[in-house]
Amino acid sequence: MSDEFRNFVSLLTYKDGTIHQGPIRYILVPASWLAGLGVEMENVLGASGAYVVVHTASEAAAKTYGEILTQLFGGMPPKEMMALVVQTARALGWGDIQLVEFNETPLTIKLRVKDTYLSGIVSEADEPKCYLFSSVMCVIQTLLQKAGVVSGALEYEETSCVASGASHCEFIIREQE
Ligand SMILES: [Zn+2]
Repeated sequence: MSDEFRNFVSLLTYKDGTIHQGPIRYILVPASWLAGLGVEMENVLGASGAYVVVHTASEAAAKTYGEILTQLFGGMPPKEMMALVVQTARALGWGDIQLVEFNETPLTIKLRVKDTYLSGIVSEADEPKCYLFSSVMCVIQTLLQKAGVVSGALEYEETSCVASGASHCEFIIREQE
């Protein structure tokens, strides 16, 4: 077991069929279920409708999670804090995420991800499809706001995606103008 996963598991408690990290409850679900949920939401709502639903639904949970991460990582230099957020997302199973760029002024963050939840499930899409990553972006936004790195909202763009045949997904995050 890798250290990053062991560290993450050491923060969890298990009681009567529920898994918790402080006030957050986790439920493990198959990645194929998440991928299927995304595809079906998009069929019903269209890509932008599905994205808005995920983003809005993520915000409340992301705020709580951002507060927990602030307690764990607050006070560290922002780049170090981001590296730990990436490590946490990896331990949660979001894929092989690497922080490939971090600039504080103006804020530019580039994340590269191998093996997102769509890997091996969707491969012939005509545009990037990993919008469930919006929840990770919401957590990053909360954390950077609480650390005083940014004051406003962040926006992100997925510039490359395994869903359209690329070898990895790439996300660029900036502060909204
Ligand atoms: Zn993707």
